[in-house]
Amino acid sequence: MSNPASLVILGASGDLTHRLLLPGLGTLLKLHSRPELTLVGAAVEEMGDEQWKEIVSKALAEGGCPQARIDQVLATTRYQKVDVTNPQELKALLDSLPSDPVLYFALPPAVTIKACQALTEIESPSTLRLTLEKPFGSDAQTAHDLNALLGRLVPEQQIFRVDHFLGKATVLNLLGLRFANRLFEPVWDANNIERVDIITDETLALEGRAGYYDHAGAMKDMIQSHLLLVMAMFAMEEPARIDELELRDLMAHVLRATELYTGDPATSSRRARYTAGTVGDREVPNYVDEEGVDPANETETLVELTVRINTSRWWDVPIRLRSGKALGDGRNGITVLFKPVAHVPEGFVNVPSPNVISIGMKPENIAVGITTNAEGDARDLEDSVLFTELGSSAIRPYGEILQGILDGDPLLSVRGDIAEECWRIVGPVVQAWKEGEVPLDEYRAGSSGPNNWK
Ligand code: NDP
Repeated sequence: MSNPASLVILGASGDLTHRLLLPGLGTLLKLHSRPELTLVGAAVEEMGDEQWKEIVSKALAEGGCPQARIDQVLATTRYQKVDVTNPQELKALLDSLPSDPVLYFALPPAVTIKACQALTEIESPSTLRLTLEKPFGSDAQTAHDLNALLGRLVPEQQIFRVDHFLGKATVLNLLGLRFANRLFEPVWDANNIERVDIITDETLALEGRAGYYDHAGAMKDMIQSHLLLVMAMFAMEEPARIDELELRDLMAHVLRATELYTGDPATSSRRARYTAGTVGDREVPNYVDEEGVDPANETETLVELTVRINTSRWWDVPIRLRSGKALGDGRNGITVLFKPVAHVPEGFVNVPSPNVISIGMKPENIAVGITTNAEGDARDLEDSVLFTELGSSAIRPYGEILQGILDGDPLLSVRGDIAEECWRIVGPVVQAWKEGEVPLDEYRAGSSGPNNWK
């Protein structure tokens, strides 16, 4: 049982809190009642306790939290008007909490930094836990500076950098598949694998989030903060046990060995932006005509980045990370393409396709492409697929994140050095794009990408 905790959501009136955090908490409380939790909402705007309770009640119910548990939360939750950049207001907030404080910065990134600076001016409880949202910094230097600032406040174990993409089910499925099977791990290397694709293609377009996305783009929104971490999990050496120390050390090891495939941003990256089109039955406008978009930002909505991991296990294997919006097909997972067999006995008809393993993330599943003998003429070879669903989590990603934070387990949170490594890898590409070294291609919304990308 974890210690009693006071979860303070700074930015209680914001989009993240309403749409993802509180419903996620609802899914957590449905399965783990956590009577020891006190919830406090804080933001600059005036809000009565009743209005806050209404928001909490609705959002927890949306996550499936039973009414009796919602009533328990409502009995102790409250709203406090706080300017988080004011040290004395923060101090008063911390002093008012009945149990170990957890500050969740659901704030604009610049305000989060100011709040952390304000915290350095007051004495905080030694049990203080801090939770930071993405984006964590805007490049390697700012991430490093933010890590240094956080280091003045609490030990690394008490810092939670959120990655809602790498959920517990995805992590455990990947590790279970690789290390609990005799079948896969011996072939998980450059001798057997030709190439790896890690892809999250979304059918969703901007959906009114220009304020954030038009400054981030697909590279920072997805590759830097999520897909490099999935890659590190996919490629890591075997952990001695499943805990944050082992897993995060091994992920850091992979990322430290990672660089652009050709060493040159111009040949290791591609970027594109959607134009008007139809996705399913939805009309999507030209990206640059979406409300709040500044065409001068040249924001990419689709990116492909090819990297390599310079270890003998992964020597020269191209790993392609791709993510985009407003695409015709929502693909989400890892595809491992194996090398062809060295020799097929004479007498078989058809050259077999190389084996493929596709690991789906959300929904979690695995498909293994193998060659089998066709019906009829047994010498005729054909492609077959073995498919199975993998375990999924009943708790939404933000519920899992909150569970880790409340339990004091940073397994799913991004360690500071790992965040910096991810920025180091993408930094030269972002710079080359700024300098116009890589063209910004276009693709029609609802298509599979630019025509010239094959
Ligand atoms: P919003 O702009 O919707 O909300 C920001 C919140 O911060 C508001 O509640 C605002 O309060 C509060 N705030 C601003 N300044 C202060 C201050 N000085 N003191 C106290 N509160 C303050 O942002 P989002 O909710 O969209 O995003 C929050 C964070 O989460 C960002 O870092 C974002 O990148 C990240 N994120 C968001 C996602 C999303 O889908 N929204 C997804 C993943 C990450 P008030 O309204 O009173 O001004």
